[in-house]
Amino acid sequence: MPFTADERKKISEMLREKGVPEKCPLCGQGEFRLPDSIAFIHVFEPGKAMETLGGQVEFGWLPAGSMPCLILICNNCGNTLLLNLKVAGLWDELRLEEVRLRC
Ligand SMILES: [Zn+2]
Repeated sequence: MPFTADERKKISEMLREKGVPEKCPLCGQGEFRLPDSIAFIHVFEPGKAMETLGGQVEFGWLPAGSMPCLILICNNCGNTLLLNLKVAGLWDELRLEEVRLRC
């Protein structure tokens, strides 16, 4: 799902508006590049213990959805940043909910 030129422009504008530095704050030399993919961080919530006829059953961490994230990678040191697409407003603006197939 590569980003279109228009989408990349919108993303760059958003990063600039929100004050995200163009230079990597870790190495101070590299610049961030945007790969043609996004990341999903799977999140979990604490499970519960339940009494059953056979005894107590404990459930550990239970899946609680995922957070779609924009990936930024420093072209010098590899520092990788993940920006929550929903918080940044790009999930809706770029209509990323819709699965798209592109050549
Ligand atoms: Zn860097």
